[in-house]
Amino acid sequence: MAEAPPPNANEGCVGPTSSSAGKSSACAGCPNQAACSSGTFSSPAALAAKEKERSDLQNALSNISHIVLVLSGKGGVGKSTISTQIAQALSSRGYSVGLLDLDICGPSIPRMAGVTSRTVHQSQSGWEPVYANPNLGVMSISFLLEEADAAVVWRGPRKNGLIKQFLVETDWGVGGLDYLIVDTPPGTSDEHISIVQYLNDARPMMDGGASGAIVVTTPEEVSMADVRKELNFCKKTKVPVLGVVENMSGLQMKLSDVQFLKGGLDWNGEDCTQQALEILKEKCPEVLSMMICTDIFPSSGVGPSGMASQYNVPYLGKLPLDPNLLKACEEGVSFVEKFSGSPAAKPLNDIVDRLILALPVDDDDGEEDMAS
Ligand code: ADP
Repeated sequence: MAEAPPPNANEGCVGPTSSSAGKSSACAGCPNQAACSSGTFSSPAALAAKEKERSDLQNALSNISHIVLVLSGKGGVGKSTISTQIAQALSSRGYSVGLLDLDICGPSIPRMAGVTSRTVHQSQSGWEPVYANPNLGVMSISFLLEEADAAVVWRGPRKNGLIKQFLVETDWGVGGLDYLIVDTPPGTSDEHISIVQYLNDARPMMDGGASGAIVVTTPEEVSMADVRKELNFCKKTKVPVLGVVENMSGLQMKLSDVQFLKGGLDWNGEDCTQQALEILKEKCPEVLSMMICTDIFPSSGVGPSGMASQYNVPYLGKLPLDPNLLKACEEGVSFVEKFSGSPAAKPLNDIVDRLILALPVDDDDGEEDMAS
């Protein structure tokens, strides 16, 4: 089988096992040129090792219906939050879900899924994930560290090795998974290149090895500029984009939950919440049940929805800044279950509906399950 170009290869890559690998004009300046021209990828031993890797990955991933990568251009835009809460919501609808934390240097999934103090067990069939609930297994480097807060300072090859181990050795259970949600680090780094390459090798029957990617951005240009690079990465690596999620899009909360301060723009202004609430209660009580709404990160230009249409990919909707979403992640619980009336709950459920619609799962009779 002709070898697919590595995701970090130049345009027009002839393939690492081609006879002109490393020598073609397209190879100039490619990070793989030296390895390709020295035959690193095309020696009989390299080809046999590659074939074994491919079949190990194929076996390990064969009983996972859909693999969804969650990407963002920047850190702090809510990628891990969205990965975790989508996984929680799918699992509470009865799907069998895995949540794989590929943010090797900054893993936050175990905390957000409420499974910080657990370790993985090694069984004969591989690493057993840690279960947040009976339908949701979690795998993260955090479970392999002696101290949860230890700094992981690893270079690319070591990270790649661990990613392959996660894919090959995690035993997601007898029935396999309906969805594997993969939280990746921000940007397009070694971890992205590795996972896409492993998935493309293991699942060549699909358009891309991953079933698709959800791309998370906040509304302002600083975040969107980096997200365009993610969208270009998906295009180059043939990972279908399931859609763009606009996160932290405005803040909505009940007026009665707001803190009032005395004085102008002074952070240290004296708290006068009680007094303000009493005045409102007396003079205009109807206001207390109203929501307040403000744009913390105002949308730039065409905004994330316009960017999605420019790239011809779906727009999955906007999630407001919602203190209860943060709280659910701090407590390690399912946001849509515990805070079903909170402003971000309906938009998050809508995103999950659209994901299920895009990637349906056959039930035991071969019929597609309907979103509940
Ligand atoms: P990333 O994975 O992109 O680095 P995180 O998911 O860790 O970002 O989010 C950063 C912080 O912002 C977390 O504390 C998270 O709970 C919070 N957060 C993310 N999205 C929202 C939101 N819509 N409303 C409130 N808090 C949010």
